[in-house]
Amino acid sequence: MAQLSDDCFAFGGPMMSVDEAVAIIAAKVTAVREVESVALTEADERILAHDIAAPLPLPPFTNSAVDGFAVASRDLPQGKEQRFPVTGRVQAGASALAPLKPGHAMRIFTGAPMPEGADTVFMQEDVRLEDGNVVVPAGLGRGANVRPAGEDIPLGHVALKTGQRLRPQDVALVAAFGLMKIAVSRRIRVAVFSTGNELVSPGEERAAAQLFDSNRFMLMAMLARLGCEVADFGILRDERASLATALKKVAADHDLILTTGGVSTGEEDHLKAGVESAGSLVLWRMAIKPGRPVAMGIIGGTPLIGLPGNPVASFVTFVHVVRPTVLALSGAAPEPLVPMPVRAAFTYKKKIGRREYIRVTLRKTNDGVPEAIKFPREGAGLLSSLVDTDGLVELGEAVTQVEPGQTVGFLGYANLV
Ligand code: AMP
Ligand code: MG
Repeated sequence: MAQLSDDCFAFGGPMMSVDEAVAIIAAKVTAVREVESVALTEADERILAHDIAAPLPLPPFTNSAVDGFAVASRDLPQGKEQRFPVTGRVQAGASALAPLKPGHAMRIFTGAPMPEGADTVFMQEDVRLEDGNVVVPAGLGRGANVRPAGEDIPLGHVALKTGQRLRPQDVALVAAFGLMKIAVSRRIRVAVFSTGNELVSPGEERAAAQLFDSNRFMLMAMLARLGCEVADFGILRDERASLATALKKVAADHDLILTTGGVSTGEEDHLKAGVESAGSLVLWRMAIKPGRPVAMGIIGGTPLIGLPGNPVASFVTFVHVVRPTVLALSGAAPEPLVPMPVRAAFTYKKKIGRREYIRVTLRKTNDGVPEAIKFPREGAGLLSSLVDTDGLVELGEAVTQVEPGQTVGFLGYANLV
């Protein structure tokens, strides 16, 4: 487990910006050290634990990029078409039986190694065959339609870097190197709790004043998408002693504890007291909407993040606090979110100095710039506002107003985890 000091999340100011939160996390959270070796078929989305340098050049040998006829560039026709006797044939997976004879052409297929003496290939679509000869046009450049060894990746080039989250194309590259296993960081283990006397789990009896816990399932799904091993610890009652006991119990076996609910300043928000008696707590008052205070704590060296209970606040603060923490613990390089420009189809006024996220749907337009349509209601408790939209428009701290037609930045839900 990564051991963090009790005061590592301390923050001096009254309000923390999103950028400050991300910077503190990057500076304070250290990655788990254990590395495991996984098969190529298990490697997608895992975090690379070591650089991978090319153990062979790609392509490994010089080969033809097309089906056609290989010639030597010194024989290339100047000014008018020219006829070559065709001698020899080389197909993918085989080597030419003999070098190319000067003044001759050799039949060759895509991916076949270039015969000795040949360095240029005419595409079969560009030539004519006349009784055993090939007639080729003038104007082809030396080296045309040939893929030199190492043109894709030279031998020894560091092609994949430590901390990369592997994508299908990265896995393909490792396979092209002939490697069967990849060293990746072990998955981080996250303990998840909901808190609140009003909550019951789906499948349980719901009293009139209760609601089904939804956040826990949203957060567990988001964590799984980030490659975490998730442990579901259910719902904790709003009661300090039992909260403290439950949190202390899981700290040793997990890399991160994530809770939702109970972090406001109301009398019935007991999470803070629970964390304080189990370990140490700081409240981050973040300049972000939706989102309320986020609790940051350390219990026995294990970080704890307490997200607000309102589903939309929980979702948005997950993206800005939990996501970077999970990436840092997993040994992943930071993955800054890059909003895409879209056109606002709404009017909006906001307070200067805080960042706001507007739930929007995108509409195609004729000029190619999509238009963002704001969800009609704003409540942080509206799950429908997340379900019926495509993503979030990010309005920076300095923005005070948005007018229809203005360019704004859009973050699609798919890119957030
Ligand atoms: P809290 O942050 O505990 O004050 O909760 C704020 C609001 O979010 C309340 O209306 C809660 O009922 C609701 N809420 C808290 N936790 C959850 C949860 N796990 N699932 C759905 N709603 C929740
Ligand atoms: Mg609560």
